Amino acid sequence: MNFFDFHHHQPENKFGIYNLRFGEAVPDHFFSAGIHPDSISENIEEQFSWLNEISKQKNCVAIGECGLDGLIDVEEKLQESVFERQIAIANAIGKPIIIHCVKRFSQLIHFKKKSKVPMIVHGFNKRKTIGDDLLQHDFFLSFGKSVLHNVNLQDFLKDFPIEKIFLETDSADFELKDLYEKVAELKNLNLQEFRLKITENLRFLNIIAENEEKLA
Ligand SMILES: [Zn+2]
Repeated sequence: MNFFDFHHHQPENKFGIYNLRFGEAVPDHFFSAGIHPDSISENIEEQFSWLNEISKQKNCVAIGECGLDGLIDVEEKLQESVFERQIAIANAIGKPIIIHCVKRFSQLIHFKKKSKVPMIVHGFNKRKTIGDDLLQHDFFLSFGKSVLHNVNLQDFLKDFPIEKIFLETDSADFELKDLYEKVAELKNLNLQEFRLKITENLRFLNIIAENEEKLA
């Protein structure tokens, strides 16, 4: 059984969305491409021309990760303009955006208004009030390893609409199957039913595996 990994950094994992790095060769499976706030540097225009080209590739199913980070030493205005330009790219090609957000959720909600495509906050592990606010503004949330041990997050997931959920490993080392099992249990579904729900969510984002059997 395969479990779709919504955001990961393992180039050898073919069943999910690989976060491509700047300048890296295009993989033969799904990937996302973006400019992380952390990688904003002098070659930013070079990164944008790379992104403009690579985002048109068929296997590029999302823009990102990109977003806002309140803990890094990159000027806020600069982060915002780099983020906004990526929203424009995503709008132009009609692909969803995978968001990295640290301590900047209220600003993020402001940027949602500029987006014509779905936005998915990846690695969500914050408190319920933030999650509720994001839901109210129509964000999707992708959850990772924290769910396995964070009871508050588990409680939040119980009430969070299944149509808005994705699951991911990000850079953590653990069995994604354990996470799928945990969330299926929280949603009172069996594993197969739950996987089908995730497949439907992926379809909503126009992310459809070439080999449908892998997903079904
Ligand atoms: Zn990541």
